[in-house]
Amino acid sequence: RSKEEGGGQHFKYEPELHALAEERRKLEFSLRRALERNEFLLNYQPVVDAKDENIVSFEALLRWNSDEHGFVSPAKFIPLAEDTRLIVPIGEWVLREACREAARWPAHVKVAVNVSGEQLLDTQFIPSVVNALSISGLPAQRLELEVTESIFVRDAVTARAALEQIMALGCGIALDDFGTGYSSLAYIRNLRFSTIKVDRSFVQGAATGSPESLAIIRAVVAMAESLDMSTTAEGVETDAELNVIRQLGCRKIQGYYYGRPMPALEARGLFATPTLQRATA
Ligand code: C2E
Ligand code: MG
Ligand code: MG
Ligand code: MG
Repeated sequence: RSKEEGGGQHFKYEPELHALAEERRKLEFSLRRALERNEFLLNYQPVVDAKDENIVSFEALLRWNSDEHGFVSPAKFIPLAEDTRLIVPIGEWVLREACREAARWPAHVKVAVNVSGEQLLDTQFIPSVVNALSISGLPAQRLELEVTESIFVRDAVTARAALEQIMALGCGIALDDFGTGYSSLAYIRNLRFSTIKVDRSFVQGAATGSPESLAIIRAVVAMAESLDMSTTAEGVETDAELNVIRQLGCRKIQGYYYGRPMPALEARGLFATPTLQRATA
């Protein structure tokens, strides 16, 4: 919109826009220094088997405790890291750190790491996965990468080729937030995802009796089962949500009901509980 078109509104909104741009600039300045200042940490959220409630994996979730800004929400800094491509070195750190931590867990427990499109399309991505696995000693089968449908929008051919290379290493690939983006069954036809993660919005919908949400989850579970893919319900918080998700046959459950994202030490502590000792025996 040009100044002429904006008319009076131009003057009205400019200070606000300016403040937003200024905040973003400050955040970016800090984000550029965050890695070297050791301001990142990972939290781990348990994912449990819907049948026996044993922990099957943890999702690694990035946290930024900034000197200047305090704890910044991932909803704020991840998009900024993507826009500035800072997500490439940051994501490399996440991979190394998550693999290093997971190598200490019982051998049946996997780790899931989120990967942005910018990372996946970077030429150094595959080597960085290989490197994270080799320095941690974590078997590739215990690493699952989570991608969203958005990675296929910019360059579907390259994205698919990168995912195929990752799968050839033995890693799993989960399709995250399924149903919220540019959902296309072509992605699912062309790639053997290990897991489809049903977005929390459908879980909430199903528990409040939305016929659409129920039908969609039922269809996704049926499709996944017949293609030999697993399903995870995201963001399960309540008994009602847990019950409906179990009835619908999702194989794995993640959400505050079983545990919030927690520091690495706390996650390790869970392996000392009786249920998990039984699982590892
Ligand atoms: P996501 O991959 O879909 O991760 C799940 C998000 O849902 C996490 O938010 C988690 O804390 C939240 N969550 C889990 N269970 C519940 C629940 O029962 N209720 C509610 N209300 N929320 C729940 P978080 O940690 O804020 O992360 C947000 C997003 O940021 C992630 O969504 C992911 O897309 C991105 N992200 C996080 N860490 C990384 C990373 O290391 N790399 C990249 N590229 N993206 C990341
Ligand atoms: Mg995820
Ligand atoms: Mg998700
Ligand atoms: Mg989600």
